[in-house]
Amino acid sequence: MNKKSDVLDSIVALCKRRGFVFAGSEIYGGFAGTYDFGPYGVELRRNVVDTWTSTMKDHENIALLDSSIFTASRVWEASGHTTGFSDPLVVCNSCHSKQRADHLLEAIGIKADEKMTETQINEIFDANRERLKCPVCGEKKFGLVRAKNLLATSTLGKFEEDDQDVYLRGETAQGIYINYKNILDTGFYSIPFGIAQVGKAFRNEISPRQFLFRKREFEQMEMQYFIHPREALRVYEEWRTERMAYYQKLGVNKDKLHWKRHDNLVFYAKDAWDIQYEFPFGTEELEGIHYRGDYDLTQHQKFSGVDLSAYDEETKTKYIPHVIETSVGVDRTMLMLLCEAYHEDEMNGEKRIVLRFAPNMAPVKVAVFPLLRNKPELINKAREIYMSLRKVYGSSKVKFDDNGNIGKRYRRQDEIGTPFCVTIDFETIEEGKGVTIRDRDSGQQERVSEADLIDFLQRKIES
Ligand code: ATP
Repeated sequence: MNKKSDVLDSIVALCKRRGFVFAGSEIYGGFAGTYDFGPYGVELRRNVVDTWTSTMKDHENIALLDSSIFTASRVWEASGHTTGFSDPLVVCNSCHSKQRADHLLEAIGIKADEKMTETQINEIFDANRERLKCPVCGEKKFGLVRAKNLLATSTLGKFEEDDQDVYLRGETAQGIYINYKNILDTGFYSIPFGIAQVGKAFRNEISPRQFLFRKREFEQMEMQYFIHPREALRVYEEWRTERMAYYQKLGVNKDKLHWKRHDNLVFYAKDAWDIQYEFPFGTEELEGIHYRGDYDLTQHQKFSGVDLSAYDEETKTKYIPHVIETSVGVDRTMLMLLCEAYHEDEMNGEKRIVLRFAPNMAPVKVAVFPLLRNKPELINKAREIYMSLRKVYGSSKVKFDDNGNIGKRYRRQDEIGTPFCVTIDFETIEEGKGVTIRDRDSGQQERVSEADLIDFLQRKIES
């Protein structure tokens, strides 16, 4: 296996070679912080989103929402994003690259508090200037640290000079808060209930990095749970347990997942934990599970003037529901699954790269090969089996491949993580001896009768 630091490069190269992920605007030299997803990236992404969504839908009291990316600017004033959502930017005076001052400090073992003011972080930065090196050019010449707001703006709906720019959403959660009353008023949900949403978010990240880990355009899967304060802490613990257990469904090794409590809570938060994953470049946040108190609804009530309170039958009083949030990125989850699956090993004396996805996450579940490509009877039989498998797994989740020798076909499927390859040979046709099924991880082949094929695969994929 490669050194840890090389693993990410190998994953990036594999993702491009096999059609998972391409650098955004690549033929124009790229566009920082964006990536485009190819056929297997789309499938993997869909598996991630579908698993998250179905886990949320398992709760009878969770409503789905798809709110717009653009909102009234007041939403972001109410949420505090226009003033308090910034990262400390510092420019290298030598190579002019833009860096996060807190990341530079972290690299020399100094933890900058997220709540620090511009002045405070400048003081720490100045005191350690001698030890701080630009990661791009190695020089030590930096300018002033400036707090840079992360919200991206757009001219949507702007026609005159004095019309205001609008914000692209920096998180999907605000769309949930501003629709909380709409969902409640449908009459189908009552407190406690949750609203779950998957959607794009945009942040002017100073240094997008580590592939899908930190992008400027990314996708979030967020659930906000509205609850009476007297029940909130107990239910917060239940959500923490549930969210950690969820990663078993994705086939992630639980030893690589860790809890980290926030050292410095934002003033309104009651408690905040992150689930971290051991990425090849370090142990970093994957998902946040936060008990946010009544801050969000109180702010939106204040800024919109709309009553967002609920009525408590027990005490016959009005109150603002508290919010428990679970928030995770689709892209970060994909990157975790790629890191988890990526292996270099040897099979039959040959080195190979293999993605050992859990079968439910694999973009392609099964590939079908006729042993030879110039024998119509093999091709016809293989296509017949291929078509029947497409009906079971969906058309994009089954692949037909008659290109090159069988060994090459296995390598290609190993690299996209296909758990099973089915080969149709002369014994299938002439002697009715069924097909061979080759297992991605062990390389072992088994003969299975045609009649048992679907049951056999189904059992393996579900186990
Ligand atoms: P970080 O500290 O890594 O910047 P954050 O604390 O700002 O993350 P949140 O605002 O809590 O992140 O966002 C919730 C989730 O959204 C994160 O746990 C992560 O999975 C995802 N996410 C946040 N920013 C990005 C990004 N720039 N690119 C990809 N995913 C992101």
